[in-house]
Amino acid sequence: MSRSPDDKVRRWIRPEVRALTAYHVPDPGDAIKLDAMENPYPWPEALVDEWLDVLRRVSLNRYPDPAARRLKAALQEAMGVPEGMELLLGNGSDELIQMLALAVAGPERVILAPEPSFVMYRLIAAVAGLRYVGVPLQADFALDSEAMLAAIASHQPALVFLAYPNNPTGNLFDATAMRAVIEASPGLVVVDEAYAAFARDSFMEALAEHDNLLVLRTVSKMGLAGLRLGLLAGAPAWLEEIDKTRLPYNINVLTQASAEFALAHRAVLDEQTAAIRRDRESLFQALAALPGLQVYPSEANFILFRTPPGRAAALFEGLRERGILIKYLSGAGGALADCLRVTVGTPEENRAFLDALAGLLAA
Ligand SMILES: *Cc1c(COP(=O)(O)O)cnc(C)c1O
Repeated sequence: MSRSPDDKVRRWIRPEVRALTAYHVPDPGDAIKLDAMENPYPWPEALVDEWLDVLRRVSLNRYPDPAARRLKAALQEAMGVPEGMELLLGNGSDELIQMLALAVAGPERVILAPEPSFVMYRLIAAVAGLRYVGVPLQADFALDSEAMLAAIASHQPALVFLAYPNNPTGNLFDATAMRAVIEASPGLVVVDEAYAAFARDSFMEALAEHDNLLVLRTVSKMGLAGLRLGLLAGAPAWLEEIDKTRLPYNINVLTQASAEFALAHRAVLDEQTAAIRRDRESLFQALAALPGLQVYPSEANFILFRTPPGRAAALFEGLRERGILIKYLSGAGGALADCLRVTVGTPEENRAFLDALAGLLAA
């Protein structure tokens, strides 16, 4: 008699879940980590002591404030959330994407997003039991307005995600094309501004102009990826409903206390993100000067580049062997064939990456 659970797994785990590939995060070992859009800078030593003093006073035996009122007020101010709009917090913005999907899920319901974009939109749609429709971007990764409007008309999506700037391409879509999508959409449009700290533009101010617009932000890419804290801004009528899909106490006491502390010392994060924006420009110039690469302009803290045909895998592996981990995107082929993505690190990390890549390209 076999004791393997395979038959029962096949019988009971939903087919759409079995068909998924789990989100894969490689073990970085002690490599220079330029794969996940993290801020490379730690907190100043003096602030670490002050932060630990705050944590010392946190009551671990008590449940957190389920509404995280103090933290929300601090975020409202720090993120420039307009008057009359409210916030919903998530354990990372990933959790908010899942809450949004759960709130609108149903037979024949559709989530729509341009492609390539953030992979979690597709993954979460599948897990929540929604149909996913991806609309290809143009060759230069601009939004294809005509194709988007046609897909919206025919699929009537419950939820549209627009990452602004887009991941993994790094560009801001044309704001007029974005507004056309928002106006043509029968359901919710979520503008995902994970990289707002690095970009010239935002839709936060536009919230009051559209009754179907929500803006998603996170503290991850601005320097607090370990905290797991995202926020969804928008009209209370939407947020009150989406809040019902939230598990109580989703933002733990350590995250609440740490995020409040970090926001009270926001100048540190602002300096770090300003340095990353400057270093992004030098990294862009240096990459563009290497032979054979097509480098895409970025409004985020990463840069997408296309290698000479057929070389992306070997370049990625070569960098790994030299202790530098970036992101390999060529696997899916299509628009990202031959593409790699590098996160902007410290000037020393960027230099090590560029030297290694230059060596590999010359080999
Ligand atoms: C990184 C990223 C997120 C997820 O961020 P978390 O808050 O860390 O879950 C969401 N959207 C986009 C476009 C991202 O690149």
